[in-house]
Amino acid sequence: RAKREGRGRVRFFESEMDKELRDRRLLQHDLRQALEQNQFVVYFQPQARIDGEVIGFEALLRWNHPTRGFVPPDRFVPLAEENGLIVEIGEWVLREACREAASWPRPLQVAVNLSPVQFQAGDLERSIHQILLETGLTPTRLEVEITEGVLIGDFTGALHLLRRLKALGIRIAMDDFGTGYSSLSYLQSFPFDKIKIDRGFISNLEASLQSAEIVRAVLSLAHALNIPVIAEGVETEAQRAFLAREACEEMQGYLVGRPDLIERYLDLVGMTVERRHYA
Ligand code: C2E
Ligand code: MG
Ligand code: MG
Ligand code: MG
Repeated sequence: RAKREGRGRVRFFESEMDKELRDRRLLQHDLRQALEQNQFVVYFQPQARIDGEVIGFEALLRWNHPTRGFVPPDRFVPLAEENGLIVEIGEWVLREACREAASWPRPLQVAVNLSPVQFQAGDLERSIHQILLETGLTPTRLEVEITEGVLIGDFTGALHLLRRLKALGIRIAMDDFGTGYSSLSYLQSFPFDKIKIDRGFISNLEASLQSAEIVRAVLSLAHALNIPVIAEGVETEAQRAFLAREACEEMQGYLVGRPDLIERYLDLVGMTVERRHYA
């Protein structure tokens, strides 16, 4: 791909694809040190009843890269899944989130995302059990969010593991509902404790009649199956009002609050700054 130019000068052209590949390799390399060097941070985003009452938080991982600044999870989680680091990183997030929630005066719930890779490698049941014991968090306060990716591949094995996790007392939520291929059949195969309607449908509520109908259909299906629903990405009062009319139980989104350091939400968890710093 070297192109000669003028007097024997050589200029190297790198295609966009090469750049992307090189960048992924660089990031993947940096990921290996990120845990040891404390570059990960857990953000918390409030989850509320549709009337606005906050009932818990979702833990969302942030990577504060030494030179690039914050790298979004959609960029680095797939890389950590490729090289298996997500198992260790995922355990770290779980431990941080459970430790944090266990320190709140109010017994709010905490939701943590699990990668399909965590179901395939490592001993997920053991590590969750261990983290619950270690942090003292009441299991019923922990919800894990999975996507349909968990159920693709070793379907029977995944169901078996999900049942054992439920037996620990924790709850299982189906994340990004409606974006996959066969989400409907998954509802039949496992008793999910919650369905999270994907943000894409909510952001299109006003613009697209189809989105509104899909949201209605998901709600009526979930209600028929007795599964509560949380809408992701609720940003406006109009969206909240629509969901309330359709009897959606819960919401999460910028309307309630953005993901942030827990310091920003101390009042909601029932803590004062003093108590947090000197506890
Ligand atoms: P998710 O689990 O579906 O998380 C919801 C995403 O929507 C978050 O993006 C959140 O910041 C964003 N969001 C929430 N409310 C709004 C809103 O009102 N408007 C808009 N525009 N966005 C909103 P985030 O934090 O960038 O995370 C992206 C994805 O990365 C997550 O999607 C999840 O799949 C993954 N992820 C994040 N943390 C972890 C983790 O600890 N482990 C694993 N395995 N995956 C994680
Ligand atoms: Mg999630
Ligand atoms: Mg989601
Ligand atoms: Mg998502």
